[in-house]
Amino acid sequence: MGSPAKVREVLAERRQAGLDFGAAWPAALEALEPAERTEWLETLEDTRAAWRAAFRGEPATRAQWALHAVGEDPEREVATGLPDAWERCCLLCSGLIPAQRDRRALYCSHRCQRQAHRGGRLAA
Ligand SMILES: [Zn+2]
Repeated sequence: MGSPAKVREVLAERRQAGLDFGAAWPAALEALEPAERTEWLETLEDTRAAWRAAFRGEPATRAQWALHAVGEDPEREVATGLPDAWERCCLLCSGLIPAQRDRRALYCSHRCQRQAHRGGRLAA
């Protein structure tokens, strides 16, 4: 079982046991092997809000859908017709970030990235 799947399972167990997310989350992280925890901790903490929403049964967002896809099968292609899990918006111009850009990219282009780092705004 992959680490995200294990976290999901522990969270589900704790939820059934009546724990709230604040108590269930550390338990879920503890359930991972030390090496797994090291590998996954940053990703899991980064996506904590999505886990919490799922724990509380809130409607799935794209982020959660993405996480689900990664947890199930990282190699899986997003099927046509489904929302693109990796669809992201540029922090500067709110344009779509092209899929081929690095998955950690915050801007749609080098131009926006440079603008942002200068503290400037896009010229009209
Ligand atoms: Zn942009």
